[in-house]
Amino acid sequence: MNRSKIQALLFDIDNTLVDFMVMKRSSVDAAIIAMMDAGLDLPYADAHQRIWAIYDREGIEDQEVFDRFILEHYGRLEYKILASAIIAYRRAREASLVLYPHVRATLLELSRKGYRLAVISDAPAKQAWLRLCALGIQHYFEAVITYEDTGERKPHPLPFTRALETLNLFADQAVMIGDWLERDIKGAKEVGLHTIYAHYGCCHPDTDNEKKYADFTIEDISEIISILDQNF
Ligand SMILES: [Mg+2]
Repeated sequence: MNRSKIQALLFDIDNTLVDFMVMKRSSVDAAIIAMMDAGLDLPYADAHQRIWAIYDREGIEDQEVFDRFILEHYGRLEYKILASAIIAYRRAREASLVLYPHVRATLLELSRKGYRLAVISDAPAKQAWLRLCALGIQHYFEAVITYEDTGERKPHPLPFTRALETLNLFADQAVMIGDWLERDIKGAKEVGLHTIYAHYGCCHPDTDNEKKYADFTIEDISEIISILDQNF
């Protein structure tokens, strides 16, 4: 085996494959409207501001955001309002979960070319798998490394080294693709992976200083194909 040849591509999920914020915003908006319909005595803008403040505080993957919001507002759980929020959120999430343009075609083309594919996500395992399976892309990936698999989040080396161990590859045989310079790109570079920065998905306070860890920057996921053809 030629050690320097790229064998595998490791993908972040949220904001790299999946347009996570579109999904999140649509789902929260639907939940607010449903809560107002169920009797919530707050204007839309106030509810919106309070819910996003909870996400800022608890993290964007918080699974109890509506429980917290209702408890903070009423001092107790109002189950009619809570159930209305959860149902509307789930329905909207289903409808608004989308891949970025050219993701499916790019994964297919990479597989055809013989590259092995894996996912490294900081999302909870259940959420990561729900997203992959809902979008029907789960079979492309030989390994799916989530937070529960290592107990560490990127940029900690463990998620990256676990993916390499699972694929039985050296770091310089794989490329990490992600939208978060500090977590995905700097973390990957520090364990010796090649790196592609998915700038199209960027919504993080990345600094110019961290750009040096990106070997390549892309505005569309399909650019990966020509980068691999021309550089490796
Ligand atoms: Mg991401």
